[in-house]
Amino acid sequence: METKKKLICPLCKSKDFTQEQGKIDSKWGLTAHKITLMICNGCGYVMQFSRGRTVWDFD
Ligand SMILES: [Zn+2]
Repeated sequence: METKKKLICPLCKSKDFTQEQGKIDSKWGLTAHKITLMICNGCGYVMQFSRGRTVWDFD
């Protein structure tokens, strides 16, 4: 079965996104939360995704 992952903006229904890689430092400064941001080119809506299998990356 083919799985299509098409991201559609919930606000303006645009399928045009800019992908940004980001990192959020934790409150404790020991770990960093790596994220992928998908920013809608239509309205600027930002969706946030965790990268990798785990939310927390210990490095
Ligand atoms: Zn949008």
